[in-house]
Amino acid sequence: MKGKNSLTKKILIGLVLGALFGVLLNQLPSSYIKDTIIISGILKLVGGLFINGIKMLVVPLVFVSLVCGASAIGDPKKLGRVGIKTLGFYLTTTCIAISLALLLGSIINPGVGLDLSNVLKQEPEIGASKPIVDVITDIVPRNPVASLADGSMLQIIVFALLLGVSMALIRKKAEPILGIFESLNDIMMKMVMVIMSVAPVGVFALIAKTFATVGFDAMVPLLKYMAAVIIALFLHAGLTYMGALSIIGKLHPVKFFKNFVPAMGVAFSTASSSGTLPVTIDTAEERCGVSRSIASFTLPLGATINMDGTAIMQGVAVIFISQVYGIDLSLQSLLTVILTATLASIGTAGVPGVGLITLSMVLQSVGLPVEGIALIIGIDRLLDMTRTVVNITGDTVCTILISKSEGEFNEDIYYQKNKANIEEVA
Ligand code: ASP
Repeated sequence: MKGKNSLTKKILIGLVLGALFGVLLNQLPSSYIKDTIIISGILKLVGGLFINGIKMLVVPLVFVSLVCGASAIGDPKKLGRVGIKTLGFYLTTTCIAISLALLLGSIINPGVGLDLSNVLKQEPEIGASKPIVDVITDIVPRNPVASLADGSMLQIIVFALLLGVSMALIRKKAEPILGIFESLNDIMMKMVMVIMSVAPVGVFALIAKTFATVGFDAMVPLLKYMAAVIIALFLHAGLTYMGALSIIGKLHPVKFFKNFVPAMGVAFSTASSSGTLPVTIDTAEERCGVSRSIASFTLPLGATINMDGTAIMQGVAVIFISQVYGIDLSLQSLLTVILTATLASIGTAGVPGVGLITLSMVLQSVGLPVEGIALIIGIDRLLDMTRTVVNITGDTVCTILISKSEGEFNEDIYYQKNKANIEEVA
């Protein structure tokens, strides 16, 4: 944990130094050393290596993590009623989260004021809209190997889900391969960490290059982007979760948040749903009154596939990047974003920073430049910490509602613990 904290600090230092260096460069007159050697040479090289490192991981990471996730939940008989309810809640709230983020992004317009449209080298593919029937037909790959090679994310997801579920259905016989996938999953996580270990330098270069090109102009849109994400996270927690607790669960929603504080604190400081899982389970059982049998199923599943906070960041990021690069998103593109961000949230592992990597898949699905991630990566850690709190809150609200609907909920714990909390806090 200490390592993670110091990496956070280093990334922030890289961000601040990069911004200062970039602004300084921006003020200097044009020269060969400044333009060719520093900006288009060193900064572009270092930033490009880092961005490519992230892109490199997307296909294998999403594929492997989805196969593992799907095989863990794929036995429909075993899952039964609880499984369907859990999946229904997780998917519905994620769709609400991303829609809220898109809406708020369109109101706040975080990317307006920063114009990088001329920086974009490749032609956006967004103009040509295919008939919706073709779009849906194309989700099922004719050749999954080609989909992997091309990085066609939706096709990869469909194949990975089917593979994972099929593995779960023949459980025993699939065990050797499942073991390989689980091991690959750990390896991918390690690779993410290795790439992230050079993030301070990468962030420095990317931010310095951005600020050197656009100067102070980049600052306000970035702050607007952060504000939009944070407001959307609060609204989702306040409206969707509290609404669900009081309307569906008939429970006092404020009491839930008081009970859940310990897990929220750990999620905020680790920025990892998976890392927080033991605390989430403990807090849900001991302070929120859910049953062990439900919690031990819904919470690990949620920490793997339910990431409403991540989906919110991705929704706002899509709006931000589309505005910065001057690319209009059609209604069809927005629907594609809702679909892919929901799937990306399933494919996002509950560890720090992965939401940014799966964001590239969402961007690609609507033809937005993946390079846009460079703009937001420097300030992502704080948002990562905040969205992880929302991620685990969604898992636990779902667990409470399902516990209650299954008659396995202890209301005394939910309310009594709350009294203890108030005393503790006071
Ligand atoms: N850090 C997030 C989590 O663990 C995932 C992400 O959005 O990067 O829940």
